[in-house]
Amino acid sequence: MMDCLFCKIAAGEIPSKKVYEDDRVYAFYDIDPQAPTHFLVIPKQHIASVAAVDVSNSAVVAHCFEVITKLAAELGMESFRVVSNIGEQAGQSVFHLHFHVLSGRDMTWPPG
Ligand code: AMP
Ligand code: ZN
Repeated sequence: MMDCLFCKIAAGEIPSKKVYEDDRVYAFYDIDPQAPTHFLVIPKQHIASVAAVDVSNSAVVAHCFEVITKLAAELGMESFRVVSNIGEQAGQSVFHLHFHVLSGRDMTWPPG
């Protein structure tokens, strides 16, 4: 999608610190980390948020979670949090589906 920051990152048009890449998914470290380990897992195809997931695109969402599990194991993350913000009130600032993966510190519940 034109003018989408994460589409451009997934395409390599904007630099990022890559964690993982395959034909469908890209993972990279968050530019403003909120935990000692904080990376984002995104589908390469443009999906605006969890609210835009449907039967036509849910396979890549499932693959995002396969990638999260694989990376968590490879990085030795025994405890971690996966977050996706949907809409501005929930804190979404980039309108391309992404899963935050955070680890390496104590976390509180409920989130703020
Ligand atoms: P959200 O606010 O849930 O939509 O998450 C967007 C995330 O993208 C935030 O945690 C930002 O720090 C992160 N972010 C924004 N621009 C970049 C970038 N160029 N590279 C890496 N992470 C970014
Ligand atoms: Zn996009």
